[in-house]
Amino acid sequence: MIETASLYVHIPFCDYKCGCCGFYSIPETDENVHQDYLNALQNELDSFDIDEDSLETIYIGGGSPSILSDKNLSALLSMFAEKFSPIEFTVEMNPRHLTRDKLITAELFAVDRLSVGVQSFSEKSLEVLGRKGSRAENLNALDAAGESVIENLNIDLIFGLPSQTLEDFAKDLDIALSFEPSHISAYSLSVEQGTPLAEAVKNGKLKLPDQQLDRKMYEHLIHRLEEAGLYQYEISNFSLPDFECLHNWNYWRSEQYLGLGASAGSFCEGKRFSNPADVEGYIAAGGNPERECQVLTEKEYAWQTAVLMLRTNRGILSPEFSDKTGFDFEKLFSSEIEKNINEGLLEKTLSGFRLTPEGFSVADTVSRDFVLD
Ligand code: SF4
Repeated sequence: MIETASLYVHIPFCDYKCGCCGFYSIPETDENVHQDYLNALQNELDSFDIDEDSLETIYIGGGSPSILSDKNLSALLSMFAEKFSPIEFTVEMNPRHLTRDKLITAELFAVDRLSVGVQSFSEKSLEVLGRKGSRAENLNALDAAGESVIENLNIDLIFGLPSQTLEDFAKDLDIALSFEPSHISAYSLSVEQGTPLAEAVKNGKLKLPDQQLDRKMYEHLIHRLEEAGLYQYEISNFSLPDFECLHNWNYWRSEQYLGLGASAGSFCEGKRFSNPADVEGYIAAGGNPERECQVLTEKEYAWQTAVLMLRTNRGILSPEFSDKTGFDFEKLFSSEIEKNINEGLLEKTLSGFRLTPEGFSVADTVSRDFVLD
């Protein structure tokens, strides 16, 4: 029996491949293909003996789960709602397909958290990202979400875009806040290699903002959201008190999670494994494709735990770290701790260590410092 705290389900279909997209997703709108995929997903779910009592969260992401027809979306949600009673049940919705009917379907199957991938309200920024959506679609989608009984609403935003000014981003943020979300995830643009966006940046057709401007946007984000009552609990995640995303918390606490669907990754019983990023192969294998698997050594698990926990505002709680990993954080990473404290990026707390505000803004650089001997 698998005791996993979190279940991730990947729906890899979109109606269009955005120019910035680094996720595994394919443009596929054929409902028959969606149906075949759901059948394979059901097989994969059935192949795992999941302990229902330990499962706290289900997160259906993509791709665009909301691209599914009402019938297929019902089939997908019932697959999980009939079997589990999680504390948190999230579905990602693309504003282009977020309709009142889709919301009613989600409500019927006890979904209690929506994550809407708006990214920006500016037509200029949406074009830079190579997204098909429009400002009007984003606003309409959030209006519809606001009328739903599902009160826990996350809005995804991206900043640090080519041609984006601080004022542009401040406007995006203000518009997002006008919908009174309980949660905002805001990421600095990451240019994914092999995408049309990366090509445009490489050719000089698009110019990324300099580091200073990106930093100003990040500082504005933290300040503005704090003013609105959404506190920062992770590098890119902000919520009202008690509305943190439990699914992601489990991940940052290095808990076990099981991923279902093409390209989905898992971490269970000391092993990382993932399904190939191949919808056709996944369907042909009836949801049981050959998975890549890596067994983590105890030290590798300790490293993973350190790097993930450092992303959160709580940082490393030393007793929790040693309970989980069997290692003393201070001893295992003594030189990394000393270096980052000296640089003002890490600080000691009553029960461990956490990143300073400076450290939060360069968290990836700090993480790269933490290496295993
Ligand atoms: S909607 Fe999201 S997953 Fe789909 S192509 Fe665009 S960025 Fe990728």
